[in-house]
Amino acid sequence: MSAYADRLEALAADAADRCTGCGKCFEVCPTAREIGLDAGEAKLRVAELSALTQGGPAAAGVMKWLNACDGSARCIDACPEGINVRQWVTIAKMKALEAARPRAEGATAAATRFRNMAQAVRLLASMQLPSATLQKILAPAEKRTADVLFYTGCNVLRTPHIVLNVMDILDALELDFDVVGGTAHCCGVYQFQEADLPTYERMGHRTFQRFGQSGASKVLTWCPTCTKNFDELEQAVKPASFDLGHVSEFLAANLDALKARFTRDQPKRRVVIHEHLGIGATLSSIARLLEAVPNLELVELPQDSGFSYACGGQAAKFKDREQAIHRALAEGAVAAGADTIVTMYHSCHRALAGAEAVYPLKVVNFTDVLAEALGRGGHPDYYRLYKKGGAMDEAVAAARRFLQDNGVRVDESSVQSLTADIFNETGLGGPRDAFRDAFTTLARSS
Ligand code: SF4
Ligand code: SF4
Repeated sequence: MSAYADRLEALAADAADRCTGCGKCFEVCPTAREIGLDAGEAKLRVAELSALTQGGPAAAGVMKWLNACDGSARCIDACPEGINVRQWVTIAKMKALEAARPRAEGATAAATRFRNMAQAVRLLASMQLPSATLQKILAPAEKRTADVLFYTGCNVLRTPHIVLNVMDILDALELDFDVVGGTAHCCGVYQFQEADLPTYERMGHRTFQRFGQSGASKVLTWCPTCTKNFDELEQAVKPASFDLGHVSEFLAANLDALKARFTRDQPKRRVVIHEHLGIGATLSSIARLLEAVPNLELVELPQDSGFSYACGGQAAKFKDREQAIHRALAEGAVAAGADTIVTMYHSCHRALAGAEAVYPLKVVNFTDVLAEALGRGGHPDYYRLYKKGGAMDEAVAAARRFLQDNGVRVDESSVQSLTADIFNETGLGGPRDAFRDAFTTLARSS
């Protein structure tokens, strides 16, 4: 076993040692309830988790719980002992899977998931970003010299206007920063989830080390999954030489500097945040940032913000629940007289971007609002056009230009898989035909 694997095991063992078995973590777990596990058996489930951690059997009840976990973090808030139960559950689940099947099987599953993700990210980024910007993002982390690294992760490059917004905002703050991301700097989530720890160590663990090698004093994360994993599976295992935190928390800490730069003539709007708990202080930070934007009124809406830390990912296994959350949000926003839904993360943005096809609402990311308030931003959200399913002329013209600039070709089979990728995700949007037909025509003519 590697030194890293040893330290992970020690973290789980420490959680089991400190646990009093009160069961409060299981009682509040939303996904345990979602799959029908009885809150009255909380003490039994936690005893099974402790036994599993100490080398005991993988009891059926606890395995159902672990496999249902979507990382909501409700258990962390409920634990009177201050145990990071999400981290414990994540490590225990990985160890149980590692013991249950040959590693090669997990490695194949992880490689397939990574390959599919990387292919979609590469195509979508190449359809929406100029080559110079993409190359800047993809350059090796360890070669950077800036004091602050803005780490994008992989999947936000499907909606790259968000990355451009954050760069605009950090630029407005006159920071010495650089942007780094893409699949060569993956956080290794698939490898960890599939219990392929040796490959995880060469990917996610290595990415984290490369940040340190750059000499940066601060790494600002974007992706909630990267944020969670680097915090709980890296920083907690071995503290880094740099500060790590989500970009929204950093911006909220610099609110006065941002406010001083906001322009007063902002559009009047009533906005609802599509809320998620579970990743540090991101939600309260985003709310504070939005409240400071001139002419913006934040409308509070009761919503199921504790079900998952973000849309998609591990929460995607609860499609009906996610769909219900999205519909209730849009309908609630309309009923409350809001005109805009603001998304926190990229996966939520992908899920909701097409809501405009169904509801009288605009959907923007919080970075769109902040960049605009600073007199910057305005980067087209092509993904929203794909999802709305209306006229594709602008999106196709941009894609033609950017694909050529990036030296990337799309063929008809890539368009088929991209269409499935975009429209099979849970969320709100228009019909898929407009995207599929317009981009098939583009593929035939390129
Ligand atoms: S992180 Fe959320 S879903 Fe996972 S065990 Fe804890 S409460 Fe349950
Ligand atoms: S809430 Fe904390 S102490 Fe109680 S069972 Fe869960 S992990 Fe153990």
